[in-house]
Amino acid sequence: YGARALSSATPEKKVKLPPMVFIKGEEMTRYCMQLILDKWIEPHFDTSSWEYYDLSCKARDDSEDKVLHDAVEAGQRIKAIFKEPTVTPTEVQKKKMGLRKTWGSPNGAMRRGWNGITISRDTIMIEGMELGYKNPVLFERHAVGGEYGAGYATVGKGELRTLYYPEGVNPESDPQAGKLVDARHLRDSESAVVTYDNPLDNVTDLAHHFFTRCLKARVTPYVVTKKTVFKWQEGFWTRHKDVFDEHYKERFQEAGLLDNTGGELRHLISDAATMQLIRWTDGGFGCSSHNYDGDMLTDELAQIHRSPGFITSNLIGKSEDGTMIKEYEASHGTVADMWEDHLDGEETSLNPLGLVEALIGAMQHSAALSDCEDEAFIVDYTNKMRSTIHKAFVAGKGTRDISGDSGLTTEAFVDLVAEVLAG
Ligand code: NAD
Repeated sequence: YGARALSSATPEKKVKLPPMVFIKGEEMTRYCMQLILDKWIEPHFDTSSWEYYDLSCKARDDSEDKVLHDAVEAGQRIKAIFKEPTVTPTEVQKKKMGLRKTWGSPNGAMRRGWNGITISRDTIMIEGMELGYKNPVLFERHAVGGEYGAGYATVGKGELRTLYYPEGVNPESDPQAGKLVDARHLRDSESAVVTYDNPLDNVTDLAHHFFTRCLKARVTPYVVTKKTVFKWQEGFWTRHKDVFDEHYKERFQEAGLLDNTGGELRHLISDAATMQLIRWTDGGFGCSSHNYDGDMLTDELAQIHRSPGFITSNLIGKSEDGTMIKEYEASHGTVADMWEDHLDGEETSLNPLGLVEALIGAMQHSAALSDCEDEAFIVDYTNKMRSTIHKAFVAGKGTRDISGDSGLTTEAFVDLVAEVLAG
């Protein structure tokens, strides 16, 4: 492999990888990632600087979730994170695994701990093979706020008041100082009432991240909201627009990426976006949206682009010193059905591309952060992991979701790529 010349490694000496957080998950994806580590990574690299955190249900239960807090702390420190899919246990799984609790999703702790700005979800493109979109589609889903953190109650007939007290004012000792946000009369014998907030401070960072990525990928950016009716969403749009006009507009115009938008940043109403995603199968565009809209729209995007196996999912946060914290994961789950088959001794065929895209992202980000002398080699080698998978897919030697019944098993596919990488 020619790129070895770029590194300080010799055949006897492995390249030392810079620090990275590796979060282990569960079931079939954990099994497959172990094969990939053993056969693609360990033979060529010294991974002793990586920190592993086991977020399986059992390990979270045994440690009373200390392991999740440790993983979040390590992510703050190291800032490059790879995460395998994890199981958020249901009541049934709690009983089956003998857990003390139905431990919650780790996502909230990670988004808070890493000051999450956005979850970037992009189409994975395979050269020589059409999935859904012909050109890349980029997506930013605001990582905080909205319905996910809502407070609510189910109440009867009566009056409902929402009051705001500025920082420093104590609502208990000074109740009159509250500003009335909303007052309404509830007529039904039962109503669900809800309060939530959309934080706006980090939308400026989100906008910079979004426009930088769109420019690099040469796609046209759109900001998606329902601000025409949901008036409180105006701030999300105006922050994007201000950043765009001041820092990016000219560069997008010069690149010819605003030819279809009248030379301006365009806003897309979220319900119209659901239709455009289906119509614009040529791709070549990016969307930035609120948390819940992003959740819905990226699921639609995944379906149009064949499956969640072909969409990335990266949590982007910012540390206090301004460095980007990036956590990379596949957007599919633990592939539990194949795990059952595997335990029953049956053949499986897991497509590892989404997992490997995440591993590539995390390894390249860790190399970029660390000023390591082997960055070029790490970038080259990880890119070769991707291109080897693509070539195998195009040659009809993919996993069964891609190549049909003649496709390879999970283990045979990992071995095929390992041979090329060793070559
Ligand atoms: P899943 O994505 O694991 O699987 C859905 C279906 O798609 C299955 O039939 C599976 O075989 C297939 N599939 C998914 N990825 C594939 C791949 N790479 N190659 C081939 N086929 C693939 O979702 P699920 O079955 O709903 O969930 C299983 C578990 O994963 C659940 O416990 C859930 O909580 C967890 N989950 C975790 C995450 C995460 O950690 N990010 C995300 C989603 C689901």
